[in-house]
Amino acid sequence: MKVLVINCGSSSLKYQLFDMENEQVMAKGLVERIGILGSVLTHQAGDKKKIREIKIPNHEKAVSLVMEAIIDPEYGVLKSMDEIAAIGHRVLHAGEDYSDSVLMSADVMKSIRKNIELGPLHNPHNITGIEACRRLLPGVPQVCVFDTAFHQTMPPEACLYGIPYEYYQKYKIRKYGFHGTSHRFVSARAAQLLGRAVEGFKVITCHLGNGSSIAAVKDGQCVDTTMGLTPLEGLMMGTRSGDLDPTVVTFLMKKEGWSCDEANDFFNKKCGVLGLSGVSSDFRDIEAATAKGNKRAKLALDRFAYVVKKYIGAYIAVLNGVDALVFTAGLGENSASMREKICQDLDYLGIKIDPEKNKVRGQEALVSAEASPVKVLVIPTNEELMIARDTYEIVQEKK
Ligand code: ADP
Repeated sequence: MKVLVINCGSSSLKYQLFDMENEQVMAKGLVERIGILGSVLTHQAGDKKKIREIKIPNHEKAVSLVMEAIIDPEYGVLKSMDEIAAIGHRVLHAGEDYSDSVLMSADVMKSIRKNIELGPLHNPHNITGIEACRRLLPGVPQVCVFDTAFHQTMPPEACLYGIPYEYYQKYKIRKYGFHGTSHRFVSARAAQLLGRAVEGFKVITCHLGNGSSIAAVKDGQCVDTTMGLTPLEGLMMGTRSGDLDPTVVTFLMKKEGWSCDEANDFFNKKCGVLGLSGVSSDFRDIEAATAKGNKRAKLALDRFAYVVKKYIGAYIAVLNGVDALVFTAGLGENSASMREKICQDLDYLGIKIDPEKNKVRGQEALVSAEASPVKVLVIPTNEELMIARDTYEIVQEKK
């Protein structure tokens, strides 16, 4: 069974085609600059690679080019699109409507539309991708895998804010959490790698990339996570501020004369390590600048590590102990120095990294010292595979 996984962003579309017999990626690619001058499709199948610079005015055209690439006689991998048995979509926000992946239906579409208010930057593009697939591959089942779903198990004391309850009832204002597919994947994989049953297993998963979040997971269920109503809460990130006193927002709006949209844009796109360092939102650039003596770059790294450490401590308290700590995503998988910095002086909590074992990049590894009571692991995340698995299972069940 072949499953196509699609992740639609505002001007980009990422895809992977899986053969679910062996969970192998047959082809993958990226369409960039959709609706902007200089659109390009990069398609890869094994060692065959094709780059097409072509006008791509909208997501429908992007999906049709992906399909052309998949069945291309030269660099494609299928004879016909009929071989695709199902399509899995990454969708950002399902509000409180879904705590699991679901088969597409009119109700599901209604929910994604309703939740545009909570995910204005992503849900509209997710809808565009779903509709384009429906038009181009009518009759092929589509499955939605939500970023928020895994976190739906958070208890009320973890996910409600200290504001009048009627605003939760009226507007559904609460913590939702994101990167759920990644936290679910790496937490389950950690249990598997350590030979532990999911029941009774306590793990803290640190998804550290451009967007970053941490989750506390017990018995395979999320009990708390750092992101909130939107992906702005929690850790300081590439360009997002993370936690701050809400008065900072109103203070700056008054001083700078910003509208709500301008303030939103500022705290999402101009803050985080970019704003603090003044160097870049990319941790590689900030690490390089720090090595050259840039003090603000060092401050950005120090603050990032500090906030991560603080949440690890908080989540050990929430879980009443922890068995494993997992690092994943671009920074978590690749930066040995950031992992070491975060885990420094956590011996009291039973976390001790082995600097030698920690010298890994982008591969599964146990990096804690032999004597460390808490196991520290690097586990590359694979949201696409998780989406493909969910899609496969849901479509099989419905047969
Ligand atoms: P997202 O999916 O949120 O865009 P990723 O998980 O791909 O982000 O992570 C991207 C970030 O990971 C980059 O911005 C970069 O800062 C960081 N990163 C990637 N490789 C390295 C590395 N070798 N060293 C340090 N940071 C890295």
